[in-house]
Amino acid sequence: MLGCAGSSYDPMLQHPCSSYLLESGVGALLLDCGYGSFDSYQALTPETRLDAIFVSHAHRDHVADLEQFMTTSDIWREAPRLIASEETMAVIVPTPHILPAEMLVLMGDAQQFQLENFILEFSTTTHQMPTLAVCVSFGARRVVYSGDTGSSWVFPPPFVGADVALVECTLGHREHGDSPYHLDAQEMSVLARELAAKRTVITHVPPGESGSLRLESARRHEPDREFLLATTGLTLTFN
Ligand SMILES: [Zn+2]
Ligand SMILES: [Zn+2]
Repeated sequence: MLGCAGSSYDPMLQHPCSSYLLESGVGALLLDCGYGSFDSYQALTPETRLDAIFVSHAHRDHVADLEQFMTTSDIWREAPRLIASEETMAVIVPTPHILPAEMLVLMGDAQQFQLENFILEFSTTTHQMPTLAVCVSFGARRVVYSGDTGSSWVFPPPFVGADVALVECTLGHREHGDSPYHLDAQEMSVLARELAAKRTVITHVPPGESGSLRLESARRHEPDREFLLATTGLTLTFN
């Protein structure tokens, strides 16, 4: 995990935002690249050569470091490649014609894309702007990433039963007036139950707010489910 903070970024606190590196042994795929993720990449995984970056949506806490990644040639195994929806791409690459066409991969709800030994499948979530969640399969392993979402996201069957689900939990306990486009700990627990991953990683906690309270709440709501709290530098392995 190169970064996991949600919704804001305070450079003084040194909490890099959403960015998750998946390495399969064959390829390397980055899921989002929010504020601070490029520095984390250089500090934590400087030897890794990327095959693609998937951007879930155009909020800065998911995309701020994109230009640094795309323009640093020696971090790529081959040419840089960017995967996003048409709506996201229109915001993050406003002049796509200046880039080689093969660099940009446009994906939408229910579409699939193969990259090295990764198979990616996308699902539109409920958020303030068009946002894609992704399910990444590699060999017998599967990782789901919710991106940012409200509780009314309806995901397709392949998202169920993954090895790891990275699920946003922006809110501690929902109060009147809170955004319907994010999850609180109880809603995240319901989603975790429905996704039924072996391990659910709680992420996108705003800096200065308590991740451990969200973790306690999730364990209270779903005592039989394995929850972990995302932290920058956390590494999960698949055996
Ligand atoms: Zn976000
Ligand atoms: Zn967002």
